[in-house]
Amino acid sequence: MDFSRILMNWYRDNHRDLPWRRTRNPYSIWLSEVILQQTRVEQGMPYWYKFMDAFPSVIDLANADEKEVLRLWQGLGYYSRARNLQAAAQSIRDNYQGVFPKEYEQIKALKGVGDYTAAAIGSIAFNLPHAVVDGNVYRFLSRLFGIDTAIDSSQGKKEFTILANELLDKNQPGLFNQAMMEFGAMNCKPANPICNNCPFLDYCVALKSKSIQNYPYKAKKTKTRNRFFDFLIFTDETHVLIERRSDKDIWQGLYQFPLIESDSMNKAEWDLIIPDLGNYLEIDNAQLVKNSHVVKHILSHQVLYAKFWWIKTDDLLQISNNALIRVPWQKIDDFGMPQLIVKYLESHNN
Ligand code: SF4
Repeated sequence: MDFSRILMNWYRDNHRDLPWRRTRNPYSIWLSEVILQQTRVEQGMPYWYKFMDAFPSVIDLANADEKEVLRLWQGLGYYSRARNLQAAAQSIRDNYQGVFPKEYEQIKALKGVGDYTAAAIGSIAFNLPHAVVDGNVYRFLSRLFGIDTAIDSSQGKKEFTILANELLDKNQPGLFNQAMMEFGAMNCKPANPICNNCPFLDYCVALKSKSIQNYPYKAKKTKTRNRFFDFLIFTDETHVLIERRSDKDIWQGLYQFPLIESDSMNKAEWDLIIPDLGNYLEIDNAQLVKNSHVVKHILSHQVLYAKFWWIKTDDLLQISNNALIRVPWQKIDDFGMPQLIVKYLESHNN
C-alpha cells in the first residue's frame, strides 16, 4: 500500500479550506492548535479570528491583560489552555526576542505544548519531520491496522507514535500531518465512518473483521465527579456583586456570583440558604426575589448542578469588599464568566 500517496490524493480532493491552513506563521498555527484541542472546528473558528484580531502577534498576546485573554476565551472551556498560551507567549517574548522558536525541543518546552502540538507546529510551520498523533490519528490507524493496544497506555502512545512516524512523508510532513488529522475527522469519523467511500477500504482490518466500533481501544473509563453549586445573585436595581475565582480549580481567573458549593445536593429551600447569607449581610436586609431550577452543565470530567438565587438588597455597597466587586448590570459582559453562568443569564434575559 502506498499509504502517503493514497492519503495525499484524498486530502487534495476533500480537505476543508480553513484560515490557519493558508499560512505557515507558527503563531497562527499554534493558536489554532490550542483552540481546537477539545473543540470542534465550527465552534473554534470564531475564537481564532477573535484572538488574531485582538492579538495579531505573539508579543501582543504576551503583553495583554490576562483578564482580557480570559474574557475572549469565554465559552471555550479548559481555561488553563488560555493561561498557558499567554505564559508561553511571554516566554517567547522574554527568551526568544519575540520570535517563535524553530526547534522541536524548544517548541515542546513552551508551557502547555505537548508532543502533539509541538509536532503540529514544527511540521506545518517549519517542515520538521515529526508525526502528529491526536485522537483522529489514533482512531484511523487503530482501525486501519487493527491495533488493539490501549491508546491511553504508555505502550499504546509509544506504538502509535512509532507507526505514525514510519508512515510520515518526510518530504512534506506538514501537509501529511494535516491530511492524517483531516482524514480522521472527516472520513474515519468516530461514529458512522464513510467506509464505502474510503480509499483505504481494501486494506482496513477493522472493516474486514466488522469490528470498527471496537477501535480505538481504551483501558480506563473516565470517572465523572458531580458538583453542586448555589450561586447568590445579590442585586439592587442597577448593580450586582461578583467575585473572581482564584483557586486552582475549574474556571480559575473567571468571574462568578458568590458561590456556595455542597457535597451532595443543591439547596432546596430559602431556609437552607439563610445561614450562608450571614457571611455576607444582615439577613433582615435580604429578600429572595426568585430562584432558578437546577441547571445541569457537563464538563469533561465533571457534571455541575447549579441553582441561582436572586437576592434583593440595598446593602450592596456595604458588602462589596476586596473579594466581592460591585458592577453595573450593563457592564457584566466585560467580565469573563463561565459558560454555565453566561447561558443562564441569556436564558433569563430572554
Ligand atoms: S474503511 Fe472505514 S474504518 Fe477503515 S479506515 Fe476507512 S473509514 Fe476508517
